[in-house]
Amino acid sequence: MPTAAHAQLRISRLASTLAVHRAFHWLHLHQPQLRKWLMEIVAIPAPPFGEGERASWFLERFRDLGLTNVHLDEAGNALGELEPATVNPSGPLLLVSAHLDTVFPGGTLTEPSVDGNRVLAPGVCDNGAGLTALLGLIAALRYAGIDPPSGILFAANVGEEGEGDLRGMRHLFLDGAYRNRIRAAVALEGAGTAAVVTRALGSRRFRLTASGPGGHSWNDAGVSNPILDLARALTGLSKVVLPDVPRTTLNVGHISGGTSINSIPELATALVDLRSIDPAQLIATETAMRLQLGEEQARGAPSSILIEIIGDRPAAALPDGAPMLRTLHAVDRHLALRTEHRIGSTDANIPLSLGIPAIAIGTGGTGGGIHTLAEWYDPSGRETALRRILLTLLDTLTTIGVDD
Ligand SMILES: [Zn+2]
Repeated sequence: MPTAAHAQLRISRLASTLAVHRAFHWLHLHQPQLRKWLMEIVAIPAPPFGEGERASWFLERFRDLGLTNVHLDEAGNALGELEPATVNPSGPLLLVSAHLDTVFPGGTLTEPSVDGNRVLAPGVCDNGAGLTALLGLIAALRYAGIDPPSGILFAANVGEEGEGDLRGMRHLFLDGAYRNRIRAAVALEGAGTAAVVTRALGSRRFRLTASGPGGHSWNDAGVSNPILDLARALTGLSKVVLPDVPRTTLNVGHISGGTSINSIPELATALVDLRSIDPAQLIATETAMRLQLGEEQARGAPSSILIEIIGDRPAAALPDGAPMLRTLHAVDRHLALRTEHRIGSTDANIPLSLGIPAIAIGTGGTGGGIHTLAEWYDPSGRETALRRILLTLLDTLTTIGVDD
């Protein structure tokens, strides 16, 4: 039988089991519980590098829901396991995660408000929706008494947004105690029923710093001026060629520096974000950028410009023949959904870059105003997406254990 048809048959069988029916039933009956969790989650601030309080809240929920080995890892990720009846302490694991952090700085008012079906709060969709789905899936699996064919590691992880630079995921896959056991990963991310990120957008982020001796605008006139030198260097970046295919972008997103109008500055900095869907192109564009900055310097800019890397998200993609992709397509056909493939910069970047199958998947409902104070989320219709994720997880669990 062709592999696609085989996957389709597996999904129809899976969806007709009593255990899966019980899990779906839990999700159907407990939408008010999910809404209550959402309100509680978003009310706890989780600024970048300040996810601790929200992580503690998740440890309590993980314990309430009966996960085992519930703990906080060295990076600050809240973790819990759902192991098969016969536990294999070195067996393969599927990671199911949702990121805790928001883009909003400490002090931002996070108390949610309600407008009809909509819940309004900074971070309510990204990633309040995903975090709520994480708890809903655990509760449904536990209620249904599903004995997973391989273990599931649940994580409410830190550091997905901006300068967090995927540090929660990096720790799990590169340094953490589970690093050699995770064979596949599903990141729960925001709204959307048919959306799935299967290609990881790569980015490299830089801080450019020009420095000089500084001085008084009149008495010391003539010494090098870092603001002017940086401005000249940034203007030069317009000469870096950015291809449409593979799509590659370069943005100077922030500049700062100087002390006062009558001082020659000592420092000026700029933040640069470089993105491409192609890893080789990302390197080529970075090289072009460095050459350009070097040329500007050679052209006589007296301030030295220091280039520091402040972010590095690898580009990668789930290969066309990956079992996880077949599973997802079969699930979508089963649920009559048209799969919407997206390219994104998500927690899935890390496993994908290591050759570990991973997706970031929408957790249902609709949302808007992402990364603004007016962010909203409407969970209406969320159940279909949760069923989709549940079927995808359960089928993926049967495929990751196979090679062991
Ligand atoms: Zn997010």
